[in-house]
Amino acid sequence: MSSTLRFQVVAEAFKKKPLEIPSREDRPSEFFAKYVFNRQKMFKYLPTKVYEKMCDVMDNGTTLDLETADAVAEGMKRWAMELGVTHCTHWFQPLTEGTAEKHDGFVEHDWQGGMVEEFTGKALVQQEPDASSFPSGGIRSTFEARGYSAWDPASPVFVIGDTLMIPTVFISYTGEALDYKAPLKKALKAVCEAAMNVAGYFYDDVTKVISNLGWEQEYFLVDEDLYAARPDLLMTGRTLMGHDSAKNQQMDDHYFGAIPRRVAAFMKDLEIQALELGIPCKTRHNEVAPNQFELAPIFEETNLAVDHNMLMMSLMRDVARKHGFRCLLHEKPFAGINGSGKHCNWSLSTNTGVQLHSPGKTPMDNLRFVTFLVETLMGVYRHNGLLKGSIISATNAHRLGSNEAPPAIISSFLGKQLSDLLTALETSGDNHLFDLSGKQALSLNIPQVPELLLDNTDRNRTSPFAFTGNRFEFRAVGSSANCAAAMIVLNAAVAEALSDFKTRVDVRIAEYSLRPEYSEGTGHTAKYHAIVDILREDIKACKPIHFEGNGYSDEWKEEACRRGLDVEQCAPKMFLRYLASESIEMFRKTGVLTEAELTARTDIKLETYTKKIQIEARIFGDLCLNHILPVATRYQSQLIDNVHRISEIFPAEEAREVSADNLKLIRQISSHTSFISKHVERLTDARRVANRIQSESERAIAYHDTVAPLLEDIRYHVDKLELIVDDELWPLPKYREMLFIR
Ligand code: ADP
Ligand code: MG
Repeated sequence: MSSTLRFQVVAEAFKKKPLEIPSREDRPSEFFAKYVFNRQKMFKYLPTKVYEKMCDVMDNGTTLDLETADAVAEGMKRWAMELGVTHCTHWFQPLTEGTAEKHDGFVEHDWQGGMVEEFTGKALVQQEPDASSFPSGGIRSTFEARGYSAWDPASPVFVIGDTLMIPTVFISYTGEALDYKAPLKKALKAVCEAAMNVAGYFYDDVTKVISNLGWEQEYFLVDEDLYAARPDLLMTGRTLMGHDSAKNQQMDDHYFGAIPRRVAAFMKDLEIQALELGIPCKTRHNEVAPNQFELAPIFEETNLAVDHNMLMMSLMRDVARKHGFRCLLHEKPFAGINGSGKHCNWSLSTNTGVQLHSPGKTPMDNLRFVTFLVETLMGVYRHNGLLKGSIISATNAHRLGSNEAPPAIISSFLGKQLSDLLTALETSGDNHLFDLSGKQALSLNIPQVPELLLDNTDRNRTSPFAFTGNRFEFRAVGSSANCAAAMIVLNAAVAEALSDFKTRVDVRIAEYSLRPEYSEGTGHTAKYHAIVDILREDIKACKPIHFEGNGYSDEWKEEACRRGLDVEQCAPKMFLRYLASESIEMFRKTGVLTEAELTARTDIKLETYTKKIQIEARIFGDLCLNHILPVATRYQSQLIDNVHRISEIFPAEEAREVSADNLKLIRQISSHTSFISKHVERLTDARRVANRIQSESERAIAYHDTVAPLLEDIRYHVDKLELIVDDELWPLPKYREMLFIR
């Protein structure tokens, strides 16, 4: 782009008028889930018997027989056709980014020369998309390209435009998972069963435990025309070069600030569409960085929440374009200002309405609370390296450990009251802290647990896994990620911890039951003492994960090392945590992923990492050679011309003096441009060397060690040139032009 064109584009972008802020007559509660085939629609469109069977499938996970599926498909088709739907697709989450779909029309031959609209139970329940072009990490060689997608009735079917979207799991011909959803569902099953068994110590009436997820999605908006003028943004989702804007977030004037009208119109539009698709949007606000915003729905069952986040991300991209924006979900689109995360708020609750991670009113409730709290910490502690492996990516690596996001070390913050409580429980020999009679609950002078609910204020923003009153908030997840990756590991790890806890408590109960002092009726039951004893062991065991201090500090890195936490900083090496023996064992025990699946997934992660850096390096090299160097040289030639002319009219001595500044600039430009051209060549060489490495992991590590750092080194010089070169010549929209939507 020539500079005049750049100025024009910038001016146009600034002049753009906001679209009308959409408004509706009906209330959100009325149009919520308008395009979702939820229970109400099922009730209306399905025969009673079929409806009841579907409820059983959804609530209790029983299998759907083909006869019922046919009847469900018939009702679905009727509903969908009233909305003008003509096609259906299985909608799945392959191990690439985003979602995949393949549309089929409802049409069939009527065998009399015409057509009929048809949608069968079989088409609803199963499809065989050609899986050969999706990454499988070698699980399925291309000659047996078949993959199956199978309907997940726990996530309702919805309509977008003329298409019925059917959420599905995606597996290979031989049954291995090729997506995020299949292992997620297994992890959820594992954690719900394990939690159910532990909840049984405290309540008689619980028949089901639910895993909940409430995500908060951060994102950037950029004007579409400015975006189009930045090949790096277009190709990689982030700016690979660009000098800081003089003003960015230092005034703290964006966070929670008034929302610009163009953005407000976008947000409203997005919210209405999301609500119609059954996503319970609640919160929206400006974030810390200019042009950065956040959106959060009310939490939902984890499987559904994951689907809704995937749906929301594609909706955001779509609606943004309607408003002349591009929505950036990259974790670090702009250097020097905050990046974007996706906080995952997670908790367990029961079908009887008990929030297992919330303190309660009775001492027994509180013992249950401490149990679930401590066993969550146990899971996170044992698999802290793996959890980090689940959230790291080529893109999230730019955000973690900067001064805005949790460091690349997993730890948990609990707040003062809870920390004191755990310390008291750990150090005291007195088991009456939660005495069932309640009389001695305060005997250790410990603040009553329920007050914690009020103690929501001392939040530690630097903690990657913080307890926030009734849930844990996993803050290290990246904005572009599928939350399933993190949720698979978290739920499986906690499932393992809870099962392990149950086994040990049961052994202890059997032991204590033989003791007369623990016999029933005294208020000191064997069960109660067994639980408190095992908890005490676990509080001690998982202590290293508990950290209340400043996670951004250098001392913490040293301290974490001493505590034996995972302090690996290299992304490809973090992926390898999936193949650590304790990870393989945990996934095996919980039935979530087999070793073959883990190997395949790790290979995909490594390959994706390599490709991302490869693409960045290529586009960066092109930009340097085609955009930056020519412009810098042109400006330098102008300066040289000027020096020549001056020497023609001034005597030599004086000419040198008059041209001193320009001569200095000419030298500076030379030094930057020669660094850039030399290192762009090195960048190509480094790629060539890395590409020859056979091992997927070593190649990714080589990209990390030898290619990625060169991008940063060269960028420094490009950004310096941006400051020197005449603004009129500079081809790429600058940070100050892209970052302030009016
Ligand atoms: P923050 O103060 O971190 O910005 P928000 O209120 O924006 O918090 O978002 C908190 C998220 O946590 C919301 O999605 C909310 O529904 C969710 N949440 C609240 N309670 C729970 C819970 N018990 N389990 C899981 N998620 C929850
Ligand atoms: Mg949050």
